[in-house]
Amino acid sequence: MTALSSQKLWRPYTQMKTAAPPLEAIATQGTRITLKGGRELIDGIASWWTAVHGYNHPHIAAAMADQLIRMPHVMFGGLTHAPAERLGQRLAALLPGDLNHVFFTDSGSVAVEVALKMAVQLWLNRGETGRTRVLAFRGGYHGDTMGAMSACDPEEGMHRRFGAYLPTQVFCELPRDGEREAALDAAMARHRHELAAVIVEPLVQGAGGMLTHPPEVLATVARLAQRHGLPLIADEIFTGFGRTGTMFACEQAGVVPDILCLSKALTGGTMALAATVATTEIFSAFWSDDPSAALMHGPTFMANPLACAAANASLDLFETEPRLDQARAVAARLEAGLAPLRRLSGVRDVRVLGAIGAVQFAQAPDLADLKRRFVERGVWVRPFGDIVYLTPALTIDENDLGRLIAAVTAVTETAA
Ligand code: PLP
Repeated sequence: MTALSSQKLWRPYTQMKTAAPPLEAIATQGTRITLKGGRELIDGIASWWTAVHGYNHPHIAAAMADQLIRMPHVMFGGLTHAPAERLGQRLAALLPGDLNHVFFTDSGSVAVEVALKMAVQLWLNRGETGRTRVLAFRGGYHGDTMGAMSACDPEEGMHRRFGAYLPTQVFCELPRDGEREAALDAAMARHRHELAAVIVEPLVQGAGGMLTHPPEVLATVARLAQRHGLPLIADEIFTGFGRTGTMFACEQAGVVPDILCLSKALTGGTMALAATVATTEIFSAFWSDDPSAALMHGPTFMANPLACAAANASLDLFETEPRLDQARAVAARLEAGLAPLRRLSGVRDVRVLGAIGAVQFAQAPDLADLKRRFVERGVWVRPFGDIVYLTPALTIDENDLGRLIAAVTAVTETAA
């Protein structure tokens, strides 16, 4: 235990008094993190699901170095620059349908805030007041800021203690069967006139517990939202950029949401950048001679040129390297490697979707102990709640992925 006064840094989701001190990272390369003292860990989670190309890819590093010397930052109000213009064009071209209007911010949570504000202001601009709530799903996670927290699972989620301070949203189960589909349909009908939008994580609810769902579930959500005239916000902050085996998870359901949120792997895990992307129909509600109809948002560091240069370089790599094939290979390896754990009595479930593999324990394990044992085995894996999961770089080689799977297997066999 360390003395209170010596703690200068306040760490994320951490009980500062009792948590083990953090390990000090001094370098990264490929899929490895080097610790002070020289030990290397294989990163099983790609720095919170961001570093899809592995660390320090030379193409991204070169693009960033060039941009750093030229213009690391300039404000975006009243000015524009080539890295943002190019990135906006490229995202619009990559995203399905007419998701063509890109609003840059600097974190996933803020991308969600912007999506919520877009949805609320959309109705105000159309002259309809009273549409101030969103319909969100149990098991969901959308971030740490107030609006984003309000759309997270209200009971299971890590923000439940803040409930009294948050806007109250409408929560439903994902429509995994006919009964839940009918319940969702009824909730949309009942709350229709107070709902601004529906928000969903396509194919997998990540921080809520790596809860996967088939594309048909997303297709059902989209169909019902459309039936009730509700804009659909797809939160692809976790799933975007190859994680599920396609560039965007929505593609697998043939769904084009009205608003889509991106962050995490947008810069290949190098810089804080996010984007909230709207269809032309949504954008047109803000297109007016009335200044008050403008979208009222503008973070200081929005469209930071260095981050946009990194994102452009990351998109280059999706064009020049077989990243989606690699994602599918990782998926196959995770499925084959983790499947035997399904037989353990202490394992409730094993879920693999794209380059995401999760083992859910029947009973919540001692997380601190698990984390320590993973580090002892030379891997960086961060179990939470009752799951341990792998979301490695899509570029991870056979050997390192094999070692990650072996570590998860060994630790699960003794913990479960
Ligand atoms: N939405 C989803 C689906 C996420 O997984 C996350 C982060 O894990 C967020 C939003 C919040 O992003 P950030 O941590 O960058 O604010």
